[in-house]
Amino acid sequence: MLHLLDQTPEHLRAWFTERGLPAFRAAQVRRWVFAKPGIEFDQMSDLARPLREQLAEAFCIWTTRVAARKKAADQTEKLLLELSDGQRIECVLLRDDKGHQTVCISTQVGCAMGCVFCASGLDGVVRSLTTGEIVEEMLRLKQLLPDGERLTHVVVMGMGEPLVNLDRLLPALEMATHRDGLGISARRVTISTVGIPKGIRRLADLNCQYHLAVSLHAPDDDLRNRLVPTNRKIGIAAILEAADYYFEKTGRRVTFEYVLLAGINDQPEHAARLVALLKGRPALVNLIPYNPVAGLPYRTPAPAASARFAGALEHAGITVATRFRKGDRIDAACGQLRRSQPGAPDRGADA
Ligand code: SAH
Repeated sequence: MLHLLDQTPEHLRAWFTERGLPAFRAAQVRRWVFAKPGIEFDQMSDLARPLREQLAEAFCIWTTRVAARKKAADQTEKLLLELSDGQRIECVLLRDDKGHQTVCISTQVGCAMGCVFCASGLDGVVRSLTTGEIVEEMLRLKQLLPDGERLTHVVVMGMGEPLVNLDRLLPALEMATHRDGLGISARRVTISTVGIPKGIRRLADLNCQYHLAVSLHAPDDDLRNRLVPTNRKIGIAAILEAADYYFEKTGRRVTFEYVLLAGINDQPEHAARLVALLKGRPALVNLIPYNPVAGLPYRTPAPAASARFAGALEHAGITVATRFRKGDRIDAACGQLRRSQPGAPDRGADA
């Protein structure tokens, strides 16, 4: 059986035309699925019954099951989705008072990057998600909204490294931005990467309007090699060059994410080096106070230390946003909910 959400619009149209069916029926099916997540073919009331049966024999629409659902006081909701092979991934719905409804999605089961402070990579990577599974994350989260409410933003900041799964992610994002899909503006899609120059350049050359965020986390290679081990093969200089290229090609300013880890990368000297590194670049810095992971030794800096760090960057003319923490009580740091569930592959020191 084919996974319907894994079919690009072209593939689905071809399936119809090959059977002598009008191609507009493909768009009709897609509109149902994106408008009413959870729907089955037999509920698609404007399709003839034999066609509904034919579709149900060829395709399954939904392949995931909600294994756990958690809601925080600030309305942040997190889903643990079980995939057809029993693997589990996380995705999150975030809301704010400006009417933004943002989904945060995963691109892999686990992660191979090994960032030392992150829960997602503690057990390595199991596999990449398919296009259909990535689309399904967005639709399962949309299903949590009251009827008629729309998703407005996508952030690819869940488990996994999106730029090593671009071939599957890009068609999923096309469906997110397509008018027969979720109709979300490409400018409201953010892809967060550990910093893979080849992937960044590939994305730049597509000339799409996605917003790129690069997880820098350190102002020099010595420290970055320790926090983000994959940096040893890459180096900050190559990442910044690729980020500059992204800006040249797309006109979109790149965000640099910087997780503040108490006593490790949050000192005035780190701020000064970060200023020197980014000076003259049209960069935004997103400071993320660390969200502690059970079993790992890293700590969140005191608010005054974060404010001092932000102040030093701002004083040098760098645009800074400090990420407002959401969903604290629901294991919102990527990978934490998955690890806290019974049957998790290895519960580590927090078990
Ligand atoms: N692989 C992508 C997506 C990772 S998750 C990347 O590296 O960008 C998105 C961001 O959250 C990354 O910047 C990641 O380093 C950061 N992050 C991971 N664990 C965190 C934690 N426990 N607290 C705060 N930020 C965390």
